[in-house]
Amino acid sequence: MKITDVETILLRLPVVREIGDGCQTICVIRVHTDEGIVGIGEAHTNPLAARAVIESPLYSVSAQGLKHILVGEDPRDINRLWDKMYKHTQTYGRRGLLMHALSGIDLALWDILGKSVGQPVYRLLGGARRKAHYAYASDLSQPTVEETIELALEHKENGYRAMKFGWGALGKDRKSDIAVAARLRQALGPDFDIMIDMGFSVPLDHAIHLGRAYAEHDLFFLEEPLSPDDVAGFAKLVAASPTPIATGEKASHEFDYLDLMDRGQLRIVQPDIARMGGISSTMRVIAHAEARNVRVIPHCWSTDILVAATLHCISTMHDCPYLEYNVTDNPLRTDLLVDPIRPVRGVVSVPEKPGLGIELREDTLKRFRWDP
Ligand SMILES: [Mg+2]
Repeated sequence: MKITDVETILLRLPVVREIGDGCQTICVIRVHTDEGIVGIGEAHTNPLAARAVIESPLYSVSAQGLKHILVGEDPRDINRLWDKMYKHTQTYGRRGLLMHALSGIDLALWDILGKSVGQPVYRLLGGARRKAHYAYASDLSQPTVEETIELALEHKENGYRAMKFGWGALGKDRKSDIAVAARLRQALGPDFDIMIDMGFSVPLDHAIHLGRAYAEHDLFFLEEPLSPDDVAGFAKLVAASPTPIATGEKASHEFDYLDLMDRGQLRIVQPDIARMGGISSTMRVIAHAEARNVRVIPHCWSTDILVAATLHCISTMHDCPYLEYNVTDNPLRTDLLVDPIRPVRGVVSVPEKPGLGIELREDTLKRFRWDP
């Protein structure tokens, strides 16, 4: 089997807002083969930039475009192709954008491998330890506490037993950051897991104060209160905060996660599978984390392509308490697949069809297609 083309499909909502939502313009990747099998992936990043990384013609031996590296290769040689993409992009790659684009292709290669042998990806990864997963409703914090609470109660009503609010009004004032947690706990009762995602960093002292204050309201974790680059700061915060600290959605290489776990002392890491090297790389991070008794709760705020890939990975794990599930109303999320992945009373199951187990809706691709 040979790769014949790597196609990038950019989809964009009619109105894109300056909010903490990276699912308003998306980059779907299709890897085509000479045997008619097509692999589906997603690069969770700035889509036009990802397209450039993929389609760029030969520039030099260590700064190639990914399509140039892949065409003519056997898509089932995933390990070798992963290394080849990483190696031949080193002068402009290794982290960030290159890894995001590489991730999308890695997902498509796993999809092809599964389709070629008629098996779901989780089985190719050694099989599932668990097929059904609790989802936490992941939502954006609202301009007022009252509106945030109203949404939270809606999610509880829909069967979720956990939720996360992030970005928006958080991080501006520590009194109101604490008030949100207190009011949420009061409204949701004791048997409900609450997570808070700061979105942007706050000063270390502010983060330590929050970590201590949130313990009183039994938060499941406090996410990314510091800069993703402030690994030493995380070590201090983790040591001082009785509330568990989580981070990692902006890291893009397994070395970054080793650093977060070892130097940063993080006990929860949140790799985004469509950003940090795909399924291949995520499985390596999971192995490192499980050996350290660190929890992996992947970042998963994009389309159902990422949701499917995430489900295949977490199904293999010893202990993943939650799947992050974006509950915002967005047709790029809700209408992208023929069979959308939907929680039933807050529980989601791993797809069972071959590969990632997903099929794209052509009418949605047509409706939101963006070719700048
Ligand atoms: Mg986050």
